[in-house]
Amino acid sequence: MTTSESADDRVAMRLDEVDALVRRALTRHGADEPNAAAVARTITAAERDVCESHGLFRLPGYVASLKSGKVRGDARPCLSRPAPAVIGVDAGGGFAPLALAEGHEPLVALARETGIAALAIRDVYHFAALWPEVEAIAEAGLVGFACTAATPMVAPAGGTRPFYGTNPIAFGCPRRAASPMVFDQASAAMARGDVMIHARDGQPVPEGVGIGPDGEPTTDPEAVLAGAQLAFGGYKGASIAMMVEILAGAVVGEAFSFQAGERGPRDGGPPVGGEFLLAIDPGRFGHGTDWIDRAETFFQALLAQPGTRLPGARRHEVRAHSLAHGVRIRRALHETCTALANA
Ligand code: NDP
Repeated sequence: MTTSESADDRVAMRLDEVDALVRRALTRHGADEPNAAAVARTITAAERDVCESHGLFRLPGYVASLKSGKVRGDARPCLSRPAPAVIGVDAGGGFAPLALAEGHEPLVALARETGIAALAIRDVYHFAALWPEVEAIAEAGLVGFACTAATPMVAPAGGTRPFYGTNPIAFGCPRRAASPMVFDQASAAMARGDVMIHARDGQPVPEGVGIGPDGEPTTDPEAVLAGAQLAFGGYKGASIAMMVEILAGAVVGEAFSFQAGERGPRDGGPPVGGEFLLAIDPGRFGHGTDWIDRAETFFQALLAQPGTRLPGARRHEVRAHSLAHGVRIRRALHETCTALANA
């Protein structure tokens, strides 16, 4: 049962309660069971790993896109094989989690067969973190990569107007006897959801996160949301954002961020677009199957340096705690999501 905790204005929930709440809210607003269950798994995983900006925080946006009719709650992904090492997924205008779930096994099987395989998802609405799909590839014993574009939010190097999405990339590598290494990061200096959370909480963002509508640097999150975000590391991060546009847009056959911004109602939900994934089986690269031990040699050498940790380690630490004790959801967010589930 859900219990209220007033001390820091949060509500304690078990993970199965989070999952059930999301499924109820989505099915109430037009998602069928397979789509609702897939999105619920993704949102619950984000709450479990304390990735607040992609957990229940996103539920109102998912619901808004169902209500506006932009996203099909009954979409069924359609798989194709346009080339020997490429699996295409037409997501049919649905949310990404079901398309990813249906594409995962075929991608892994093909990578084991060919050494390297791509999953090209189009006509999809991605509103989540990327680590779940890359972690799944790494847990299958393969090296994985994923990226997706969005709507224009980030200025190109030298520019002042939104052009790129916050365009995240994620990369994962399995480990011999530990959770996989997975990094997942926006090419923007700060993920959009985190800028929104700073705005919600009245907190300034660090310098370098964005510029205001006047093109001048600012730490006011509201001004950044009205102006433009900046890529991390200046022109270097902007080039990563450009790579994502080419892979998730041109290669997959989908809209670029600047075009996605013009497609569909601005309902607060995700934009239409594409996602590009790679799965690599290093054991098929002709130098034996002990690659995972060599990767481990690298990780151990890195970790021998004080102060270091591997990307993904924080999530796995907090995951263990969430699995044992549940999660704590901000009360206002809990109320919003409960109202959506009971509407
Ligand atoms: P963060 O800056 O929070 O983290 C980026 C990565 O760095 C994580 O993998 C994190 O691992 C790792 N990391 C952080 N600190 C260290 C450290 N000290 N040593 C080693 N590794 C470290 O991510 P962002 O804010 O850039 O992105 C947040 C999320 O937003 C991502 O999940 C991304 O996919 C999502 N996003 C989704 C979009 C979409 O359109 N769907 C658009 C843009 C972003 P750990 O998790 O273990 O801390």
